[in-house]
Amino acid sequence: MSKKNSKSSTKTSKKKAAALKDRQGSAVTAKASPAPIGSAQQEAPPPIEGPARAMVIMAHPDDAEFLCAGTIAKWCAEGWDVSYVVVTGGDKGTHDDAMHPEKLAAIREEEQRAACRVLGVKECILLGYPDGFTSESQELRGQITRLLRLHKPDVVITWDGFRGAFNHRDHRNVGVATMDAIYPIVRDRLFYQHHEEEGLGSHQVNEVLLAGAAEPDYAVDITEYWEKKVDAILCHTSQVGGRTREDFVRERAERDKREPGKPVEERFRRWSIRRPQTRPQQEQAPAEAAKPPETLARAKPQRG
Ligand SMILES: [Zn+2]
Repeated sequence: MSKKNSKSSTKTSKKKAAALKDRQGSAVTAKASPAPIGSAQQEAPPPIEGPARAMVIMAHPDDAEFLCAGTIAKWCAEGWDVSYVVVTGGDKGTHDDAMHPEKLAAIREEEQRAACRVLGVKECILLGYPDGFTSESQELRGQITRLLRLHKPDVVITWDGFRGAFNHRDHRNVGVATMDAIYPIVRDRLFYQHHEEEGLGSHQVNEVLLAGAAEPDYAVDITEYWEKKVDAILCHTSQVGGRTREDFVRERAERDKREPGKPVEERFRRWSIRRPQTRPQQEQAPAEAAKPPETLARAKPQRG
């Protein structure tokens, strides 16, 4: 990405934000400034603003709470419509010698639903795959595509399935299946055409935030929602190893002492599917603006 001086970059992003807003006609709006927190890119798109519809697609009960519950709490407080899709039952996540998978899945489902209530998530859908046994399959892509067509989210948060570092196979498979569903499957009606029999049309997601990313480029300030995040994490009693609210509060106090005034953030890798083209300042013709998301299409092989 080429560097420009900050003055012309500010002008550029203002024009782009206006153009983006005109073209989108969506519940997701874009402000020209400030630039996304933590972004090193001069050409970074403007922050994601709502209220809008969001879908959080994760592998296990508790993934969302640890990765992005502050962002979810913020969005719900701002009137966003947020739904969860949890692909597995999390039925292997225990060190208890007496625990059985079915019992653990039932416990974890209740914990997940409790966390959703704390955050204000409207719907929590569990697909019930066995923990550790997901594959990046046609079946999973189809299920995710159907839920995207049903709920029509503007923004999706999922795992970064493309990161090179060590990761759980369910995290990787869910992240990749979700991205493949988002582009181009959910948009093109001839994929999983039987969805039309249910009255589900094609849909386009505008923004994707990849959680657990090795190279995050977008941050959400969750300082105000940190306590809510802790409340949601603590709903996962079977997974927090006996940690209490006091433990979280003490760790936060130590951090604040070390880094006074620093906001608490959740960080993501962001893909803006209708991101404006990074070239000189002519307004694009509508037909051109509606071209496929080349940034997204190109990005996957590079990062895989
Ligand atoms: Zn997980």
